[in-house]
Amino acid sequence: MAKIISGKTLAAQFKAQAAQQTAQLQEKGIGVRLAVIIVGENPASRTYVKGKTKDCAECGIASDVIELPESISENELLEKIEQLNRDDSVNGILVQLPLPRQIREQSVINAIAPEKDVDGFTDINTGKLVSGEECFLPCTPAGCIEMLKSTGVPIAGKDAVVIGRSNIVGKPAALLLCAEDATVTLCHSRTKDLKEKCAAADILIAAVGKAGFVTGDMVKEGAVVIDVGINRGADGKLCGDVVFDEAEAKASYITPVPGGVGLMTRAMLMMNTVRAARMQAEGRALREKGENH
Ligand code: NAD
Repeated sequence: MAKIISGKTLAAQFKAQAAQQTAQLQEKGIGVRLAVIIVGENPASRTYVKGKTKDCAECGIASDVIELPESISENELLEKIEQLNRDDSVNGILVQLPLPRQIREQSVINAIAPEKDVDGFTDINTGKLVSGEECFLPCTPAGCIEMLKSTGVPIAGKDAVVIGRSNIVGKPAALLLCAEDATVTLCHSRTKDLKEKCAAADILIAAVGKAGFVTGDMVKEGAVVIDVGINRGADGKLCGDVVFDEAEAKASYITPVPGGVGLMTRAMLMMNTVRAARMQAEGRALREKGENH
């Protein structure tokens, strides 16, 4: 029977750390602020944004929610981002996705100053992730890695399978596992022999978006299973991609849904925001020192 990796417990620890670091910065007169842009009325997006502002409040981080109409043009949105880029009191900028169809998402994301890109979605941060440079890690895959590390099971040398190749979860999760010296297989909708590949994995990360996708026969005895999926099951309840009971019977560790990766994603955003504030303050101090010489 697998041990449960509690997103609730782990996220609380990271949020406490973010709160402590925020307080330390505030003692030095440095504020920490996150700006969240939300376009339109998408109810799921609204719920996510509410969660993020609640987390900010818990960590002592100031947050601004900038609500923009569904009809906004790409240029108007870009102007708003420029304004936030120039505002020294804003440390992190996050654009809640999805955006309306008239707006090219990646153009908007790339308009965010890389040093304020706390979601880690700009091409600059992605490029740094690929080349192994220090950068803002995308929150969901970063949360997955922290959950893996929390088990104490070494990642190095393990066979890891990631199902799903999206830019925000699957691909960066594969890169991070690779950086941790796992041997990674990145699977997707065109992968052949998916079941066999999964069943051979020491670490299995599911990011598909289909309830009941990962069944017990796809889980290796003793594997660590990280379930990123957020779905509604036939019963209307929130569930992941993994058939929990079947996987739990075989895995050594497993994450639940709800109470798993989702909470860690939110905690990682808080950590990224504090880090952004600290790095920006250090940059300002260096510039001022330079100017005084
Ligand atoms: P996506 O739709 O962009 O990507 C899904 C991926 O699954 C694709 O790469 C696709 O190739 C793959 N896939 C689809 N059908 C498949 C099949 N039959 N076999 C193998 N692979 C298949 O989704 P996403 O944005 O990466 O999100 C994935 C899931 O994770 C969703 O349920 C989403 O809600 C959830 N999610 C959770 C968090 C969190 O914080 N927990 C964050 C982001 C996304």
